[in-house]
This record gives sequence, structure tokens and C-alpha cells, in this order.
Amino acid sequence: MTGKEWLAVAGPAVAIAGWFGATIVRSWLEGTPLNGLRRFFGMRSKPGKDAKLSVIVLTAPEPKWHVGAMGKEPMLCLTILANLAHKSDIPLRIVQAYLRGTKPVGVFMPFIVAGPYDEPSIIHFSVRPIIVEGLAKLTRKVVLVDQFGNEHVTKPVTFSTVHVEPWRRGLTEEGQTIKCHICDKPISMMDLHESAAIPAHKSCVR
Ligand SMILES: [Zn+2]
Repeated sequence: MTGKEWLAVAGPAVAIAGWFGATIVRSWLEGTPLNGLRRFFGMRSKPGKDAKLSVIVLTAPEPKWHVGAMGKEPMLCLTILANLAHKSDIPLRIVQAYLRGTKPVGVFMPFIVAGPYDEPSIIHFSVRPIIVEGLAKLTRKVVLVDQFGNEHVTKPVTFSTVHVEPWRRGLTEEGQTIKCHICDKPISMMDLHESAAIPAHKSCVR
């Protein structure tokens, strides 16, 4: 190639590089997700599709677990208060939540994360199997699923539980019998699960 030919090729290339550079710099300055660049490549901009959701689980009130039941099936119910934020052009809807290593069960109330400045959300969700015993603490990552099926994973969250006094569940006197919500057989005080909101045998909560 002669010098002239090089110039013929390099000229437009430099111009294009310059245009790209300006676009990238402008996008960066304006905080937009390179829509101009995507349009140039014929890529459909899908705002929200791959939106990065920041999830910060707040430490107060403390994340809690307790045992509930759906019909006769015990489930592990979890509550967190979390600050959620994203910079996507369209709102994200959180439609499911579970702990790593478990499956979501029961009712989940979907909620919207509009953008970067939403108030913290109280998130209730329930899972199976019940992966904690007695009054132990439970540490797991929480997975939030948006309307596109994208999973947003938190750092490990430590859940604690509250001891539910037997009298809160109808046990008032020694010798009185109550029946297990799960198996319908009588429960002695010794066998009563420590934290289940329902009266249930320790052995039935799993
Ligand atoms: Zn039982």
C-alpha cells in the first residue's frame, strides 16, 4: 500500500473511531447505557433486561426466620428489610425470592423497584426444605428474581429467630394436649418445636 492508499483507509477509520469515542464519552458523562452505540450496531436496546440491581440487606430490624405452614406442609418463612436500587430505564418488578439451596414456596407479593432512590422494602418470602433447626442462626445468600427471570444475589444474610412461648400457641397447663398442625398427633412440651408459629412436633418440621 502506498502512503496515499493508507490515508484513504485511515481517514474514515479515524473519523469513525472519533465518533465512537465521542459517543462513549457522552454516554459515560450522561450515565446512559450506550444507547447510541447499540442503535449503530442494530442491537435493540432492552432496558431492564439485564439491569443490575443492587440489594443491600439492612441489619436493623434483623433478618428473621420462622416456621409456618402451607396447608399441612411446613415451610421456612423469611423476612428482610433491604434497600434496592438500579439505573435501568424501566422499573424492575421483583416476582420471586428464595434462599440459595432452597426452592420458593407459598405466596410472594411482587413489588416494584422504580429506580435508584426507592425506600427500603420489607420482603417476606418462604422456602422449602427447612434448612435450620431449633433456634439456630441461618446464614445464606438471598436470591431475588425480576420479571425477566434475572436473578439478583445478595451477600450472605444471617437470619435469627424468636422463641415462641408455648402459651402463645395454646399450651397453658402441664398435661394439656394440643395436636400437631402437620401430623394431627398430640404433642408433649418436649416435642414442641421451639420457634414454629404453628404447634408442631420438632420431627414434623422439616
Ligand atoms: Zn407432628
